[in-house]
Amino acid sequence: MNAKNEHRFDGRVAIVTGAGRGLGRAHALLLAQRGAKVVVNDLGGSKEGEGVDASPATDAVNEILAAGGVAVADTNNVGSEAGCHALVETAVREFGRIDIVVNNAGISRWAAFPEADAENLERTLDVHLRGTWHTTRAAWPHMEKQGYGRIITTTSTGMLGLPENLAYATAKGALIGFTRSLAVSAAPKGILVNCIAPNAVTRPSESAKKPNIVTDSKMDPELLKAMQTDLVSPLVGYLAHESCTVNGEILVAGAKRFGRWFLGFTQGWLDDTDSMPTIEEVAGHWNEINDLEGFYVPRNLNEWSANFMGHLA
Ligand code: NAD
Repeated sequence: MNAKNEHRFDGRVAIVTGAGRGLGRAHALLLAQRGAKVVVNDLGGSKEGEGVDASPATDAVNEILAAGGVAVADTNNVGSEAGCHALVETAVREFGRIDIVVNNAGISRWAAFPEADAENLERTLDVHLRGTWHTTRAAWPHMEKQGYGRIITTTSTGMLGLPENLAYATAKGALIGFTRSLAVSAAPKGILVNCIAPNAVTRPSESAKKPNIVTDSKMDPELLKAMQTDLVSPLVGYLAHESCTVNGEILVAGAKRFGRWFLGFTQGWLDDTDSMPTIEEVAGHWNEINDLEGFYVPRNLNEWSANFMGHLA
């Protein structure tokens, strides 16, 4: 593609949370390379979320500056509401506006039931869910005033079933509800909200407890290369761009494959008799209830309601 056709972000200001390392760093580098002014947020803690270190955010900013881009480091903790507001203030103070928020920061505190306790849940929700909520909410009035914004949230295919990291999977599931619901009120304001489920080799991939996934150190170098973080970022760039019209969707990216993850419904079994459905009838129609033939994918609650009302009629 020549420069004329490039998706550029000149004049746009982006916040990328957790951008000192891993996927966030790759997202920030790409947006900056295409002309965005980037706030590189990173607290710099361990993958479990312990400690602080300014160097990941500073290093990423130095890399952007060395490549001729524009960026500032921000070490606010998105695990606190005050930290999220301070982060958005950094963007407005330094660059005067806020067009793009990539909610990427994350921690992993591996634990299943019953070890996964209230603290595990709260610490995980603080970063993934409340961090996304508060950062987006702090940026919202700026986007609303501009009549323009692009918000990206980060879920995980771990949501499909990750019992060893239960709080993480729980938080990632909640982000889908958040994304899809916020997208509805965002659209009339010129704001789009989408969710990505990335796959790349990063620090959390090194956890020996992660089932069915080879650990980083044991990973074949070819596979490691195939799962680089910057192979996910073009999706973020697309969703963050002004030409994008996608809203309220979940997209999957990793190892150069990009796809859509959708929430579908089976047509199910409709009891069209005059009598009350029984437990036995539900059991008896189980195959029909689960039959994928003719499944449908409502884009929003209204579309689902229309289908439901159709059944009632
Ligand atoms: P990573 O650990 O390499 O990077 C996450 C960054 O977030 C770190 O630099 C960390 O310091 C920062 N961070 C953590 N808590 C923070 C806080 N409270 N405030 C500010 N910064 C904070 O991890 P990653 O794999 O790059 O993960 C990025 C996102 O992608 C996470 O939301 C993760 O759950 C998600 N994800 C990753 C994968 C994958 O395959 N790597 C898969 C699914 C989802």
